[in-house]
Amino acid sequence: MLNIDKIRADFPILNRKVHGKPLVYLDNGATSQTPQSVINTIVDYYSNYNANIHRGVHTLSQEATDKYEEARIKIQQHFNAKHAYEIILTSGTTESINIVASGFASILKEGDEVIVSALEHHSNIVPWQMMCEKTGAVLKVLPMDEEGALRMDLFDELLTNKTKLVFCNHVSNALGTINPIEEIIHRAHKFGAYVLIDGAQACPHLKPNVQELDVDFYVTSAHKMCGPTGVGMLYGKQELLEMLPPYQGGGEMIATVTFEKTTYAGLPHKFEAGTPNICGGIAFGAAIDYMNSVGFDNIQTQENELLMYATNELLKVDGLKIYGTAYKTSVISFNIDGIHPYDIGAILDKLGIAVRTGHHCAQPIMDYFKIPGTVRASFSFYNTKEEVDLLVSAVKKAKAMLS
Ligand SMILES: *Cc1c(COP(=O)(O)O)cnc(C)c1O
Repeated sequence: MLNIDKIRADFPILNRKVHGKPLVYLDNGATSQTPQSVINTIVDYYSNYNANIHRGVHTLSQEATDKYEEARIKIQQHFNAKHAYEIILTSGTTESINIVASGFASILKEGDEVIVSALEHHSNIVPWQMMCEKTGAVLKVLPMDEEGALRMDLFDELLTNKTKLVFCNHVSNALGTINPIEEIIHRAHKFGAYVLIDGAQACPHLKPNVQELDVDFYVTSAHKMCGPTGVGMLYGKQELLEMLPPYQGGGEMIATVTFEKTTYAGLPHKFEAGTPNICGGIAFGAAIDYMNSVGFDNIQTQENELLMYATNELLKVDGLKIYGTAYKTSVISFNIDGIHPYDIGAILDKLGIAVRTGHHCAQPIMDYFKIPGTVRASFSFYNTKEEVDLLVSAVKKAKAMLS
């Protein structure tokens, strides 16, 4: 069991007030809050050893390089990648997906096929559409059902020997659905297709094992798992990262440069052109340490309890509908009959409660349910039942004011 008071004390922001009320932060699906240990790591970096990495002979540069590469190893171990150089540090999930999509834009051919799930975030749709435009590859969609689960019964009909890539999120940010990625990877591999899994919404809740999953690419962002914004990871199997062309040209990603011919650096530097987010990468490592010190079993127990409690309490509100009831993590996407989600969100904010409203960068899901958007409350392990009670009473208040 978690000592929630002790956990909450790790997050200074949870003490602040919003409109005179204690902050109730339920927008963890958009970004998580930052524990003191990660904040300290950032302060320590800029206070004591800020320097550019991999290039300097001087002490600060060596220290920064060592810490940055230590962070890469922490990330490797956390996700159980075989080699540290299979972990590319990027600016986040979006950039990670773009690196892979732009690489395949010079590999795929007209008539090749790729499959996207209906549950995707725009960042796992648009880069692939751009790739298809360039190559003439065909984008097919694996549909979802009323409960927000993927129609796995239709997957085999979509797979052919022309299928080159399948991309899917591990957990849907809009509904919280946990997708059966083991099965997706296994079935796609039977057709020789590669699979990219978007783990941005999964990594705050669980610990993926990329070798056990046998996944080809796995991507995530630090800022949803207690780390800073502007840094994330692209994991790829060595042979695939070697096959893909570099994404950006510049310093750090080269072996030799002449005006006649440039040769590229090996992994991971081939995909890390220019000065990276050094402090962010080091802080990403600190965030992983923090999450592991809390423990993913504890995280899941606490979050599942909050999810069940909040679901039961919210469903007691007349006219409230929850979207996505499949097997899921601690996300509740809902609407109240006849009320626009934005209006509910604005009233909740006045009461100190932070939720997200809108399409959650997943318009196709909203189109499926024929709604403009939802109110989304997304929980973290540092949230409490008391906060759920505040949410529910605020939702009732908003309903009374708006109907
Ligand atoms: C947040 C999120 C993204 C985008 O992450 P960025 O950090 O904005 O690049 C992509 N997919 C899912 C499922 C997400 O939750």
